[in-house]
Amino acid sequence: MMNLLPLKYLFGPVAQPLESQAQREDHSTSRLGEGKRNALPAGPVRLLMARERLCPRDQGPLREQTAKGQEGDFRLDICPTCHGAWFDQGEVTKASGDQDIERLIVMGAKTPTGLTCPNCAAKMSSRGVGTVRVDACTKCRGVWFDAGELKEAARTLGGGLADASLTLAGLDGFERTTHMARSAFVPSPNWKSLLTPPEERTDSKDVR
Ligand SMILES: [Zn+2]
Ligand SMILES: [Zn+2]
Repeated sequence: MMNLLPLKYLFGPVAQPLESQAQREDHSTSRLGEGKRNALPAGPVRLLMARERLCPRDQGPLREQTAKGQEGDFRLDICPTCHGAWFDQGEVTKASGDQDIERLIVMGAKTPTGLTCPNCAAKMSSRGVGTVRVDACTKCRGVWFDAGELKEAARTLGGGLADASLTLAGLDGFERTTHMARSAFVPSPNWKSLLTPPEERTDSKDVR
């Protein structure tokens, strides 16, 4: 996961005001009331800890969740407010076990939405996949699902929600979203058949 840290966090303007050792010690002393022993980690590690991803819909901080996918565990960042979910590049592939789905989603995302990518802050675009509208960042190649779209994907694309209406009731928001994400990427021919034709289906939903 660590290799997903965008370079700009390491080398961009945010990384430049590196504190000297003395400053760092002062800082930790004043914050923690103790000396060097509890000094905060320096450099990239510290910046990584400080990094916060924000929901493209409501700008609240996203919460990281891990779930079992078709190809190992996958990670998603869930919004506690609207329950949308962000997949970094590679996570849809782990979730679906299919090398092509993520690439095809990102490749076909051509309708500008004005939403800001939670990972790299580029403006995202969207595309239709059947009745589902998916947002993607063509720069860092991550994918965003609004809560309703994830549910629709689970219902129509993955086909994994058949018995879910009963079990979903007892789940909290995060578990529910995770369950949707898993269900959406259960192996199914639907993804491929809807993603493969180059012409985008515009009959599904209006462009936001
Ligand atoms: Zn949100
Ligand atoms: Zn991005």
